[in-house]
Amino acid sequence: MIVLGVESSCDETGLALYDTEQGLLAHALHSQVEMHAEYGGVVPELASRDHIRRVLPLTENVLKTANKTLQDIDAIAYTQGPGLSGALLVGTSFAESLAFSLQVPTINVHHLEGHLLAPLLEANPPAFPFVALLVSGGHSQLMRVDGIGEYELLGDTLDDAAGEAFDKTAKLLGLGYPGGPALSKLAQSGKARFKLPRPLLNSGDLNFSFSGLKTAVLTLVNQHQPLDATTTADIAWEFQEAVTEILTLKCMTALRETGLDNLVVSGGVGANSKLREKLNAATKRKLCKVSYPRLEFCTDNGAMIAFAGAMRLKAMHGNGNRNYGFSVRPRWDLAELQKPAI
Ligand code: ATP
Ligand code: MG
Ligand code: FE
Repeated sequence: MIVLGVESSCDETGLALYDTEQGLLAHALHSQVEMHAEYGGVVPELASRDHIRRVLPLTENVLKTANKTLQDIDAIAYTQGPGLSGALLVGTSFAESLAFSLQVPTINVHHLEGHLLAPLLEANPPAFPFVALLVSGGHSQLMRVDGIGEYELLGDTLDDAAGEAFDKTAKLLGLGYPGGPALSKLAQSGKARFKLPRPLLNSGDLNFSFSGLKTAVLTLVNQHQPLDATTTADIAWEFQEAVTEILTLKCMTALRETGLDNLVVSGGVGANSKLREKLNAATKRKLCKVSYPRLEFCTDNGAMIAFAGAMRLKAMHGNGNRNYGFSVRPRWDLAELQKPAI
């Protein structure tokens, strides 16, 4: 079965074709990052309008790449939430209308389930059950995953998400928006000089808190005005060190407490090379396995939505939704998801 995946929850329009027999056939993405950069954050109305402009050309693009036509599509999976309502409505209404015209079923996908399953798109995918670390722009969660739709929340952030902390700290350091990747790059030229706190490192639970770290960076920035390039790089180094140390330690605690030996990392911060370095070393020491998505599938994309949809469709023996009505879910807890029912 060939599934078209549609992602439009925030500032990336992602389309993909996933074949349950042959794997990923094609994927295409348009990022609006440059458009929003001058505002220092995503402007929801601009995001929705741009999704409208991109969704059809990107669909044509993936069909052409895969050498398929609309008639080859067996089902359409789309992100129903969480995300920006206007942005979600574009992908949702497009997917339901196209599915209606083709008379194929739809599958409404949870955006975080997409992120969570993205590592399974790679060769030698991890097997269930596993511990998942989901670190994106809006979420920082540790989960026990027993199967599709079988998610138990083990820990969550009490305030900022890891990606949000990277972005806000980058802004304080004058690195523009979204600053996560820029901060990470700058940190490579920094060194150990400052000491930032490690919030909740020894809290005894699996929760995170990153907002205090950002405040501590602000204090450092104020103390070192005017900021020179070396100081900026050294602060970036220590910030990245603090976040990746906390994430690594909590992942190892989650593996120990669940008794599992399989860790899966996803979301934009999962692209961070320092985090990967630390997780690779720590899991190796404990003889555990760790899996990541390829770098381009860490951040938002259509492939993860097509894949999550295909997994659900398979579990439901090809029976998706056929009522072609739709609504979006801007707020939606991943732990609310159920196993696909036949
Ligand atoms: P959510 O999925 O929670 O709704 P999102 O879709 O905005 O949020 P993603 O696309 O998964 O999040 O990830 C984007 C985030 O990842 C941004 O905060 C960005 O700064 C961060 N990020 C991307 N690459 C890196 C990196 N190499 N190091 C640190 N952070 C990074
Ligand atoms: Mg984005
Ligand atoms: Fe995302």
